[in-house]
Amino acid sequence: MRLNGSCHCGKVRFTLDSHTPQPFMRCYCTVCRKTAGGGGYAINIMGEAATLKVTGRRQVTCYRALAEQVEGGGDRRGRSHMRRYFCRHCASALWGADPRWAEWVYPFASAIDTPLPKPAEVVHLMLDFAAPWVEVPRGPRHRRFQRYPEEAIIDWHQRRGLTVP
Ligand SMILES: [Zn+2]
Repeated sequence: MRLNGSCHCGKVRFTLDSHTPQPFMRCYCTVCRKTAGGGGYAINIMGEAATLKVTGRRQVTCYRALAEQVEGGGDRRGRSHMRRYFCRHCASALWGADPRWAEWVYPFASAIDTPLPKPAEVVHLMLDFAAPWVEVPRGPRHRRFQRYPEEAIIDWHQRRGLTVP
């Protein structure tokens, strides 16, 4: 599935291919909710890094949190492995990338213009770091994790037959 994305001011546009476009993971970690999550969380999906094409690349800049601020630590220079890319004009969060999983890129669902499927189930993760005012939904469609779930994004899609060509 080809996904189109953009920042709010329009200086950055991007496309990528994704077999796993369900926006089912809500991350409540401090970095996601401060930088991209007005509702107290951010939603990332996953696509193939090799297919990422960016117009306005020079307007894109990157934020790397300090390793001590993130679950799981970081590199030797004390930075988070995850790079969070955003537009330097309008501050829209665009995508994340982690060199440890270089074949994937993790666009913020908020930056995607292509209509995404409505997920049948929502996974709430990093709840140990959720803001106290956030109401995390309960019910059969909602699964909660204090840290990361064990099931990877691709396995979640495969188990439900939701991968797309
Ligand atoms: Zn912009």
